[in-house]
Amino acid sequence: MGSKTISGVTIECMQGDITKQADLDAVVNAANAQLRPGGGVAGAIHRAAGPELDELCRPLAPIRPGEAVITSACNLPNKHVIHALGPVYGKDTPSDRILADAYRNSLARAEEAGLASVGFPALSTGVFGYPMDEAAAVALKTIAEEAPKLNTVKLVRMVLFGTKDADVHEKALAQLSE
Ligand code: ADP
Repeated sequence: MGSKTISGVTIECMQGDITKQADLDAVVNAANAQLRPGGGVAGAIHRAAGPELDELCRPLAPIRPGEAVITSACNLPNKHVIHALGPVYGKDTPSDRILADAYRNSLARAEEAGLASVGFPALSTGVFGYPMDEAAAVALKTIAEEAPKLNTVKLVRMVLFGTKDADVHEKALAQLSE
């Protein structure tokens, strides 16, 4: 696991499953515009949370690329789920700015709810086709840029499904200046 503290905010990268982060106040869902279960992270989060999450999401949908909304986490071991819509790579453009918005807005929802810790999957790197190395650079740069503005959030964890994906993120984290 890689870790770095910037302006009092610890940023971690680790291999793991976003639905099994019991020590975090919130996890971020790589949502679709309709906030429906679907596949990938959204499927796993809705399965673990139970059908009530779908009910909570309905009145909040649709959301636009770069936006994020917050709900209770239902049966997940966290307090909240933050549903963020990343860009479809090359279709929602500029993809890098929209991806950064998705991270920024997710952190804003966490701050508004007074949360101390939040975990992200690698938004847009699955079905949405964002190359992992480019997405990792945007994600970690954005989190680091936001860190000095955060008041309640003290821990941000990138949770990567694959060990290779975790390596790519740890390298991007190591390249950030403190
Ligand atoms: P998007 O539609 O935003 O591309 P996906 O859910 O398809 O989102 O995938 C985003 C990333 O999350 C991919 O790199 C995928 O391998 C990873 N992923 C899938 N399931 C999980 C999980 N349970 N925990 C953490 N990461 C996951």
